[in-house]
Amino acid sequence: TRQIQLAARPHGEPTQDDFRLVHVELDDPGPGQVLVRNLVMSVDPYMRGRMNDVPSYAPPWRLDEPAQGGAVGEVIASADPAVAAGTLVVHNAGWREHALLGAGEFRPVAPLPGLPSSLYLGALGMTGLTAYVGLFRIAAFSPKDTVFVSGAAGAVGSMAGQLAKLQGSPRVIGSAGSPEKVRHLLDDLGFDAAFDYHDGPVSAQLAEAAPEGIDVYFDNVGGEHLEAAIGAMNVFGRAAICGSISGYNATERPAGPRNMSLLTGRRLTLRGFLVYDNADLQDEFDAMVRPALYDGLVARETVVQGLDDAVSAFIGMLRGANTGKMIVRLAPD
Ligand code: NDP
Repeated sequence: TRQIQLAARPHGEPTQDDFRLVHVELDDPGPGQVLVRNLVMSVDPYMRGRMNDVPSYAPPWRLDEPAQGGAVGEVIASADPAVAAGTLVVHNAGWREHALLGAGEFRPVAPLPGLPSSLYLGALGMTGLTAYVGLFRIAAFSPKDTVFVSGAAGAVGSMAGQLAKLQGSPRVIGSAGSPEKVRHLLDDLGFDAAFDYHDGPVSAQLAEAAPEGIDVYFDNVGGEHLEAAIGAMNVFGRAAICGSISGYNATERPAGPRNMSLLTGRRLTLRGFLVYDNADLQDEFDAMVRPALYDGLVARETVVQGLDDAVSAFIGMLRGANTGKMIVRLAPD
């Protein structure tokens, strides 16, 4: 079977040479283990951080070992009496075609009638839960709030914007990196306003899109977007600081928002969070999103085929090649 290993640690933007595709032999499952054939794997922005050898909430990937990340697979051999062959499982041994997993290293999930298993990596998985946690718990969304989402055409952002609309927001504004993505936000996802951040200063475009200001900011991007959002916030506004992808490949520390003094007079809250601390919301998230997927919620994916192109998918995602969740498909459902 084949897997992708970390070959080198990048400086700036990652390249193909930072990874290596290798053939390995896997043992049969030992007592309590299962052998899983991966169907889909995830590439995510936080993986850029795991390529660096610096302490972080997710430990660095090790050189010359398989990279890790979310995946959905099918159990094809089981030495765990509680898990039958054929069971669909979500786990963290992505970047490889097959994985040997022990008890506690996977979570069985139900097949999704009529929908792809990759939703367990996106809308119904880590990125969907991130949107849910950020919007409802961290930003304490309430139905009268005007919401601004950056990275709005991506996996997390597209869910955050749609969930805000679903729960009654009168105005949801999104920013994204291309005219096609802006059209997608307006035509397919129900955003009320959207702009391409390449078209001019974010602050000016946001002011035009939100003449009455914003109450909630869902920040996927950081940098200029964060400064602009602070500037547009109404009194008692809240920001969920989910990520800052504009800086992930940066080799120097970016300038911070220069308008932090607004936090006092406007009584603003900026709050960072990690989805992992909020697993207690999994069930209520599921109860909202699972039926919505059959009732108009859009879970767009950009699907790249095969492990050979997984690195391209990852590098492409960091550059904006995806609309919705970037998925690598390794085998059919
Ligand atoms: P996306 O699907 O949004 O993919 C990344 C997107 O980032 C690209 O498509 C691109 O879209 C955009 N991007 C790249 N460079 C820039 C830039 N310089 N400025 C603005 N946008 C840029 O990824 P996810 O939805 O998985 O993740 C979104 C954010 O959420 C990330 O910051 C990630 O780290 C964070 N996150 C945080 C979690 C947490 O627990 N706190 C959990 C999961 C994700 P475009 O074409 O619009 O530029």
